Amino acid sequence: MNNVNDPSNKSWITINPDSDFSIQNIPFGIAFVNDEYKVVSAIGDRLIDVSSLNKLGYLKSIEIPQNTLENKFLNDLIALGKSKTNALRERIASLMNVSNVELQNNDLHKNTVLLEIKKVQMCLPVRIENYTDFYSSIEHATNVGTMFRDPANALLPNWKHIPIGYHGRASSIIVSGTNFHRPKGQTKGPNDEIPKFGATQQLDFELEMGFIVGKETNLGDSVTTDKADEYIFGMVVFNDWSARDIQSWEYVPLGPFLAKNFASSVSPWVVTLEALEPFRTEGYVQEPKVLPYLEYKGNNNIDINLQVFIQDEKQDETLVSTSNYKYMYWNMNQQLAHHTVNGCNIKVGDLYASGTISGKSEDSYGSMLELTWRGTKPLKLNNGTERKFINDNDTVVMRGYCEKNGVRVGFGEVKGKVLAAN
Ligand code: CA
Repeated sequence: MNNVNDPSNKSWITINPDSDFSIQNIPFGIAFVNDEYKVVSAIGDRLIDVSSLNKLGYLKSIEIPQNTLENKFLNDLIALGKSKTNALRERIASLMNVSNVELQNNDLHKNTVLLEIKKVQMCLPVRIENYTDFYSSIEHATNVGTMFRDPANALLPNWKHIPIGYHGRASSIIVSGTNFHRPKGQTKGPNDEIPKFGATQQLDFELEMGFIVGKETNLGDSVTTDKADEYIFGMVVFNDWSARDIQSWEYVPLGPFLAKNFASSVSPWVVTLEALEPFRTEGYVQEPKVLPYLEYKGNNNIDINLQVFIQDEKQDETLVSTSNYKYMYWNMNQQLAHHTVNGCNIKVGDLYASGTISGKSEDSYGSMLELTWRGTKPLKLNNGTERKFINDNDTVVMRGYCEKNGVRVGFGEVKGKVLAAN
């Protein structure tokens, strides 16, 4: 069987070397094409209409019900299981391979199946059933603890024992390109008797990755770190927008609430866990030793280069952060094992976000809070203006990609523009 991840695979489609969508990637998403929602994939600057591929008979051997592909979300396709979705990814990669002439030599079908990515509207890929946000980057947790509490005891005593997380809000997760208004809320006033109300003055981004669950469990079941990969369909880039002034007033004693639930942006392409396999890398040495249910084997971190840009109104882009998903202290397997150890059931389409991903160096921090150290060290944009937090009409763009042995597997981007409060 053809191995999709083999670096020697070449496509008959011209692919720019810096394209995220190599023949080794074959991500999945949902596009709105000719008034229809369809499952699509991508290669180079082309979008692959998977729904039409099936209709034209190219996917016959995999037996995928057409209604899972003419669908507003990926959930029904994902729920068929990895035996189907992996076979689908392999078949699409094989059709795009230079040695395969089936589609390559059929001009009529090629015109139906291949579209220009930039001309197509991408949609929210998954009907997100539940959303959990972790807090798994040690550098981020240390920075926040240093700023808001005690630099000598920045990490709370539980942090190295528990992949800390909280249940977020699924309804306000929006796809890349969806703009939103600056949120309003309560913030601390001149004294504790009189809070202030108004538009947040400290709007921030959080650079995160998210994973999408592909297999459900029953109430009472737990997923072990060994089995977690079976339950993870793929990953997206995630911006967990945050209003810091609202957050600092509301978060004690139960954690973030309205400071986080007004919007979170997600990239439209879901890159499968199988496509990320070659980019696995070792994680932190976890000291003190974790409890047995959190122990894991193998390389469960993934080397994903991450970048954050702020775009001004003239679309001039400034790179403000360069981080990497491999900096995570807690990996996805541990997060899922912890989330389910009490019997909490998971569903196809659940989204689990990593928490802000910061590295050690100051230019690798994953939020404005850290990059400007609470606004005390403003960032300078290319246009000469300064930012402590995010201004109205700024667009935040995040990009992620893996690169190894000449193969690039990327996520494209997640972007969102902040409009003035209404
Ligand atoms: Ca977060």
